[in-house]
This record gives sequence, C-alpha cells and structure tokens, in this order.
Amino acid sequence: MKIAIDIDGVLADHLPIFNRHIRASGLEITIDEILQSDSPVFDDGIPPTGFYFAMDEIESAWASMILLKDNNHEIVYVTNRMIGTIGMVETWLWLNNRLFPEGDVFFNDTGNFNSSPKFKTRIVQDQSIDLIVDDYQKNLELINKECPEVKTVHFNGKWTETLHEISEATVNDTRK
Ligand SMILES: [Mg+2]
Repeated sequence: MKIAIDIDGVLADHLPIFNRHIRASGLEITIDEILQSDSPVFDDGIPPTGFYFAMDEIESAWASMILLKDNNHEIVYVTNRMIGTIGMVETWLWLNNRLFPEGDVFFNDTGNFNSSPKFKTRIVQDQSIDLIVDDYQKNLELINKECPEVKTVHFNGKWTETLHEISEATVNDTRK
C-alpha cells in the first residue's frame, strides 16, 4: 500500500516545542485553537530557526517506519508545515539524520496553516494514497468524506496499536 504519514504528533513530538513557543510568545491560545482560528502561530508564518529540528521522536516512530518499509509499503510524508519556510529544510534534515525511510515529503502549499484538512485531502487524492495515519481528527474526517475508499488511521500516541490497525487494513486490502 501507499501510506501517507503525518509528521507532527505522529513521528515528531511537537507539543512540548509548540507549547514552549506559545508561552514564550505570550499567546493565550492552545494548538487546537490555533488550528481552528486565524491566529498566527509564528510571526509572518515563519517558525524560528531550530524549531522543528529540536523535536524529539515519538516513541517507536522510527522502528515502525522501518517495519512498514520492510513489509513493502511505500511511505510518503504529509505535513501541515509550510512550504517555502526554514521548516522544510529542518524537516528533511530531521528525517534524514534519524534515518527515517526515504519518501516524498508534501508540505502545506496553501499559505494557510488552518487549511490542513483540505490540503491533506488533496494530497491523498493526487498521490493515490491507500492509507493515511494522522493525529488530527478533522483531517481524517474530511478524507473519509471526500475519499471513502482511502483507509484512515487515527494515531493515538501508540505505534504498536497503529501498526496493528495498518496490518489489518492490509489484510483486507485487495490492492496491497
Ligand atoms: Mg499531526
């Protein structure tokens, strides 16, 4: 299967870094509120240097990607991080330095941090994705609605459970 993997909250532990940034900026807002409003999380939409690079890996994320690759799945990464920012370079470096499997990385090209569900739905369609793993329910809701043939797996923080869901989906998938 061609599997799309979200980065923040699925591979990278983004919450501590985002929360530190939000506190330092004096913003009285949560990440959920940011995603659902027009509030800028970064000045000019550009994250400070080192922001993404400093993130820890979610437990077992790397090993899980290797396992999927070994099981002949094709992996692409799809992230709401903005195209054209320093965050792109840091994302590539972060994935490469940690030896995550190679795969295309799709960045949000809409210019709008709040357009994550629409952006990810378009990538799923354009790239003929069979299954997507994401921790943001609103992304998966729109994908389920617009692309009912695509399997969606909500990441709950535990890769063992997610791998199980993916393998069940693979067994039931006639295309493989
Ligand atoms: Mg995410």
